[in-house]
Amino acid sequence: METKVRSTDKAEDTGVVRRCDVMILGSGLAGSITAMCLAKQGVKVALVDAGQHPRFAVGESMTPQLIEWLQILRARFDVPELEYLFDIKATSKHIGPHHGKKQSFGFIRQVPGQEPDPREATMFVIPKLLTEASHLFRQETDQYYFHVAAKYGCITRQNWRAVDLDFDDDGVTITGHNGEVFRAKYLIDASGFRSPLAEKFGLREQPARFKHHSRSLFTHYVGIKPFDDVCHHPRSLRPPAPWHGGTLHHMIDRGWFWIIPFDNFKDSTNPVCSVGLTFDPRKYPKPTDMTPEEEFHHYLDMYPSAKRQFVGARRVREWVSTDRLQYSSSRSVGYRWCLMSHAAGFIDPLFSRGLSNTFEIVYALVSRLLPALRDDDFSVERFEYVDTLERGLLQYNDDLVNSSFIAFNHFRLWNAVFRVWAAFLTPGVMRLTRARLNYALDGDERHFAELENNAYPGLWWPESAEFKNILEITAETCEKYEVGELDGDAAADIIFGMLNNCDLVNPVFGWKDPEDTRFVLPTTQMMAKFMYWANRKAPQEMQELGRALLTGVFKAGIRGRKVL
Ligand SMILES: Cc1cc2nc3c(=O)[nH]c(=O)nc-3n(C[C@H](O)[C@H](O)[C@H](O)COP(=O)(O)OP(=O)(O)OC[C@H]3O[C@@H](n4cnc5c(N)ncnc54)[C@H](O)[C@@H]3O)c2cc1C
Repeated sequence: METKVRSTDKAEDTGVVRRCDVMILGSGLAGSITAMCLAKQGVKVALVDAGQHPRFAVGESMTPQLIEWLQILRARFDVPELEYLFDIKATSKHIGPHHGKKQSFGFIRQVPGQEPDPREATMFVIPKLLTEASHLFRQETDQYYFHVAAKYGCITRQNWRAVDLDFDDDGVTITGHNGEVFRAKYLIDASGFRSPLAEKFGLREQPARFKHHSRSLFTHYVGIKPFDDVCHHPRSLRPPAPWHGGTLHHMIDRGWFWIIPFDNFKDSTNPVCSVGLTFDPRKYPKPTDMTPEEEFHHYLDMYPSAKRQFVGARRVREWVSTDRLQYSSSRSVGYRWCLMSHAAGFIDPLFSRGLSNTFEIVYALVSRLLPALRDDDFSVERFEYVDTLERGLLQYNDDLVNSSFIAFNHFRLWNAVFRVWAAFLTPGVMRLTRARLNYALDGDERHFAELENNAYPGLWWPESAEFKNILEITAETCEKYEVGELDGDAAADIIFGMLNNCDLVNPVFGWKDPEDTRFVLPTTQMMAKFMYWANRKAPQEMQELGRALLTGVFKAGIRGRKVL
């Protein structure tokens, strides 16, 4: 709807103003999916992007937790197109045959000039029962969801850069570089690092408040060879699932290379592979006398087995070479505005938590924004939880990633940190599945609201004080190793000891068996044993999760619903 502005409106001078309820800057997955959720609920949304689809984006590797959040958004806001992201088959069928599969997180320790020791490797294979996740070819997914947002009635603009944001008591006036003016009740900035809102309100903390330091070099290649084909490890010491079946991390001292193939799913016609190097600029300062390509190969050349993956490979787009990746903001919500996750702050791509964190924020924001729009009340207190959650997500991720970077040069210590991350993923996902199944049964939003009723927002199992304690002691222990107060084995022993003594760590997957179970592959039989343990033997808080989940699966199954 186009309207002449009222004389009281600050945009009066510009003539025609387009009115909407919510304006979203940035049409990456965060912006477009938020726009879809709002529009499907009757909100008038304008979705603008400074660039144009299709466009390159990172954020390619998915996690089970991300898929659960997408399932929750799909169920709660009734946006069926999100189902196409639930598994690689659906993504390939409905969005296009250009995505890879994300069967596993594989980590192999690399030492300069040496072949990697096959015993210095870990892998977590995502249980098939949970999901068959994807490596998203973002230029395609992002374009698709931008179009779906338009289909739901959003006003869309590409190559549209906001040059002025003007807030007053009644709303916000947004002026584009072409003079076009929008008037909205609420502004969501999903534009990422260069957020105009963060700039306008001077929200960026200088320096970022995090411990962790990394910078990154990344691009896309064709012709990358599967690591399985170029490593010299005997079959008996290889993981039970191929390295090339998921996201491969070559861990180096205070850094890691990523290999994210899009050609590893049977229906994929895409020969492209995403590659990158993320490393600590305090150890590896950005050079002034090398191109990003030269710099990348300078480091790649040090690791012969990783280098073999690149023999005959060709780069298909320009390198991106960043400065320090970490940034933070003093606040992520204010009166009539929100800095969406990636605009508010960032830690590191390690563990692929970016999109999952983003969609946890999308849920928290949209579930508050809908009643705020109904009540015409945008008081900041209503949105305070979004800010608290954002802080928690970043803080716990900082602990985990900083510990990992410290541990990369000592395999036993890495093996311990790996377990702290992975052993608590399962309950972190189960609590989301439980809420979703209960919602499917009775349609009561309370099940999702209860997810927010926890002591430690942002922790991946936010109800568990014991897990929080383990994560914090892990961070402290790694930092002691970093400054030489502990040697690596002593630090690893402390963390292994905590995991062994923790009854919440399930005994079925091998988390308590670091020497013999470096590759964790939960088979369907193991999942059944795990459910038995979680329902019968585990401590109270795990039993509550296990029982509620099993009941939900059972009831949904009786009603013929697809549950997992
Ligand atoms: C190196 C790296 C690797 C990563 N890998 C992963 C991963 O494997 N898995 C994962 O989950 N997360 C990963 N992340 C995090 C991930 O990138 C984000 O979580 C995710 O891409 C965020 O999506 P988004 O829609 O918020 O932002 P983006 O995809 O960055 O989209 C932002 C959009 O805003 C537009 N824009 C910019 N400025 C303006 C403006 N002024 N006005 C209007 N529009 C504007 C841009 O054109 C762009 O289209 C990674 C991050 C980095 C830095």
